[in-house]
Amino acid sequence: MDTNTNLLDFNVNVLQEQLEELGEPKYRAQQLWHAIYQNQIGALGEATSLPLSLRKILDDKFRLGNLMQINELVSKDNHTTKALFSLPDRHQIETVLMSYKKRRTVCISTQAGCALGCVFCATGQMGFDRHLTVGEIVEQVLWASRKLSVTGHKLTNIVLMGMGEPFHNYDNSIDALNRIEDSNGMAIGARRVTVSTAGHAEAIKRFAEEGRRERLAVSLHAATNNLRSKLMPINRRFPLDELMAACRIYSSITHRRVSFEWALIDGVNDSQEQAQDLCVLLHNIDCHVNVIPLNPTDQYYGDTSSEDATTRFKSQLDKSGIPCTIRVRRGLDIQAGCGQLKSENIGGTS
Ligand code: SAH
Ligand code: SF4
Repeated sequence: MDTNTNLLDFNVNVLQEQLEELGEPKYRAQQLWHAIYQNQIGALGEATSLPLSLRKILDDKFRLGNLMQINELVSKDNHTTKALFSLPDRHQIETVLMSYKKRRTVCISTQAGCALGCVFCATGQMGFDRHLTVGEIVEQVLWASRKLSVTGHKLTNIVLMGMGEPFHNYDNSIDALNRIEDSNGMAIGARRVTVSTAGHAEAIKRFAEEGRRERLAVSLHAATNNLRSKLMPINRRFPLDELMAACRIYSSITHRRVSFEWALIDGVNDSQEQAQDLCVLLHNIDCHVNVIPLNPTDQYYGDTSSEDATTRFKSQLDKSGIPCTIRVRRGLDIQAGCGQLKSENIGGTS
């Protein structure tokens, strides 16, 4: 295993200390920062604002990134690209780039695997490997941004909806967001970033209290504790009343609309009763519901809801005045659902 330190794990102060240790003046750190996050160099040798001798020293001492791409799939309609990366300790993660109309959105992972075990989720079915470092989270954004620059495009949106639970790796996810939003770096506005959580109520409150400006999405998928605990074990730790209370606190502190995600599963959570319970649950909260057709996985019997059931579910929400969108599934032909490319590669789901 390569033991060189990953430069992307350094914040600007640490980078400065490291360069000072090498006897370099302070401004070198700014130059290197600029090269990495604004020019988005692919290798240290490309940091041409630095003297060649320093580039060589840095190249010997550090690594510019941890991700090694081992697979890439492009959907037939060309709108979705999914990359599978190997980490130095051989764990794997995936990143998805979606281009549609004027939006260029990257869906990034915050953990290798996930400990929360939602039954319908390919990542949850794999179990937990480890948290990603700040550098590993940020590098996925750099990958997408570099890839887009080849065709003259710019990244417009970031969603933390890949593998893992961002709030289970809270500090690294937040530091990564700070890095991505840094005005001396990639300068991506917080409003263009969405953090998706399976419902970690404590972290939702913390996120609000810390004044985070990113958008918040909460994966709900069921409106009763009984059903939700079966689908998402985290519901036993943070049941619906606690979760909804946290969402209300978030809403009142930030004055932001919360998005709720609902993957419709045939005969499981697509009934009129669940829709009614959902309307009661969301009563009086500024929100939006994203209905997502389930991506079937091998280790879960559930299937996608019929078109009829989907329309009925939405019309129930419409009647209660709850904004609701049925999301189009993209990249189905390349298993662009959470965790599916990795499980393909290790011989899991088909
Ligand atoms: N851990 C976070 C973010 C990653 S999952 C969370 O759970 O919110 C991103 C989204 O994909 C979540 O809304 C999750 O519920 C959803 N998801 C997972 N597996 C899915 C599947 N098989 N079909 C449809 N959506 C799925
Ligand atoms: Fe983890 Fe999210 Fe998948 Fe649940 S849906 S197992 S929280 S990645």
